[in-house]
Amino acid sequence: MGNLIWNELSRYIALVASAYAVWASFWGFYFRKFFWDFIGGILRNPGGLQPSPKVSFFITIIVKVPVVQILTMILGFTMIALEYPLPRLRGTALQRSMPLKVVLLFFQAFLAVLFYQVIPHCFDTALSSGDLLFFPSTAHTHKEDGIEFEIRVCPALQKKPTNPAPTVDTGIALANHPSEEVRKLDPFAPPYVPNILLGTLQDENNDADYVVLLNKYSVVPHHFVMVTKEFRAQTSPLMPPDLVQAYLLLLAARKANKRYMAFYNCGKNSGASQPHKHLQFIPVDDGGPPIERLARKAKLEVSGRPFSISSLPYANHVFRFPVPLSDSSPDQLEELIFPPFLSLLDLVISTVRHDPTYPSGTPSYNVILTLEHMHLIPRRLEFHTIPEIGMEVSVNSLGFAGMLLVKGDEELEAVKKEGVSRILKGVGVESVHDLQVTGTSFEVVPQDSEDL
Ligand code: AMP
Repeated sequence: MGNLIWNELSRYIALVASAYAVWASFWGFYFRKFFWDFIGGILRNPGGLQPSPKVSFFITIIVKVPVVQILTMILGFTMIALEYPLPRLRGTALQRSMPLKVVLLFFQAFLAVLFYQVIPHCFDTALSSGDLLFFPSTAHTHKEDGIEFEIRVCPALQKKPTNPAPTVDTGIALANHPSEEVRKLDPFAPPYVPNILLGTLQDENNDADYVVLLNKYSVVPHHFVMVTKEFRAQTSPLMPPDLVQAYLLLLAARKANKRYMAFYNCGKNSGASQPHKHLQFIPVDDGGPPIERLARKAKLEVSGRPFSISSLPYANHVFRFPVPLSDSSPDQLEELIFPPFLSLLDLVISTVRHDPTYPSGTPSYNVILTLEHMHLIPRRLEFHTIPEIGMEVSVNSLGFAGMLLVKGDEELEAVKKEGVSRILKGVGVESVHDLQVTGTSFEVVPQDSEDL
C-alpha cells in the first residue's frame, strides 16, 4: 500500500515536472535568448555586440538552432506519454521500465536548468553563500495627485552595515591620489567576490570597460550594478559608452522577457553612497516605474525634444526615444541617446543656475533610463526632513522614479502624512521650465495624470 502511494506520488511529480518542461520549452522558442550573451562580449563598430567565445556554444544551441528547446519538448512529451500513460504504451516494457524513466528525467532536469539562466542562478548562489545580503521588504501603494507611488518598507535595513567612506571626499581622493589606503574603501575595485561577479563588458571602440556585479545589499532581488573597470568618479556625467551599454543591458533584458530600469545617482546630493562610477539596474513591473507611466501619458507636439512633466512639483527633464531602438547599431544608439542626454544635462544646469541658493560645487542630479524615456532630475538636497518629527528621508533616483524606501511602519506613516510629492519637491529644485522654453515653439506637456 505504502509503495503504491509513493509510486503514484512520484508519477504525479514526474507528470507536473514534464508539463512544466514542455511549457518552458514552448516559451523558449519565442524568447530565444541566452540572457548573459553580452557578458564578456565586446562592443565593436561596425558589427555590434560580439559575444565572448566562452558563450558561443550556448548561443548556437539556444538562439541559432533551438536544440535545447526542441530536446526539452520531446523529452517532456515522452515522459508525459509514459507516465500518463498513452493507451498504446500502457503495460509495455517501455512504460514499465524504471531505469528508462530515471534516465529521461535526468536529461530533462539537465536541460531544464538551462532555462534557468544566470541572473536568478547567481542571485541564489550568492545569497546562499552569504556573499549577498537580502533585506526582505513589503511594497505599499500610495496614491497621491493621481500617481501611484510605491513605498517599500524594509525594517531589516536598520541592520544594514553602514558605508565607512563619505562619498564625495573619497571620490575626490581616489581620483587625485589612487593610493592603496583609499582604494581599500572602494567596494567596486577589484578583487571581486566571484559569487556576485556577473561578468565584464568591453567597448572596443571607446576603450571603456565595465564590471557587472550583483548588488551586495539587495532589497529588490536581481538588482545589479555596472561599474567602470577603471576608477571614475560618481560625480562625473554619463559618457556615450556608459549610456550605450546601459541601454543594451535593458534591451537584452527585454529580449529575455524581463523589464529593467537603469538609474544613476550623480553628485553628492543625489543619494549616491559610493564614489566609484556605477549605474544600477532593477527589475520593474511591465508598466515600468510610476514616473514612466506618467511620462508615457505626455502627448508631445513635437517629438525629439526634451519635455517636462508639468504636473510634478519639481524640475524634471525628460526625453522620449523614437521607437524602436532595438535594431540600432551601437553607433546609432550613441547618436540616439547621447545628444539627448546632453540636452537634458544642459537643462539641469540651466535650472540650477536659476536658483541663487543652490549649493556650490558640481550640480547633483538623478538619471532614470528606460527603453522609452530618459529622465534627469536636478537635486538640491539628499535628505528631506519631516519637520514635526525631525525624521530624515533619504531620496535617490528610485524616489524620483516613484519608488521610495523606508525603514519601518512609523516612517511609512510619516511619509504618507507628509506626502511623497512634498518630499520630492523638498529635495529637488524648483522648475523654471516655462522660462526655459519661452520663445521656443516646441512645447508640450498636456498630460493626463489620472488613472495611473
Ligand atoms: P548608491 O548608494 O546609489 O551609490 O548605490 C550603490 C549600491 O551598491 C548600493 O545599492 C549598495 O547596496 C551597493 N553596494 C555597496 N557595496 C557593494 C559591493 N561591495 N558589491 C556590490 N554592490 C555593493
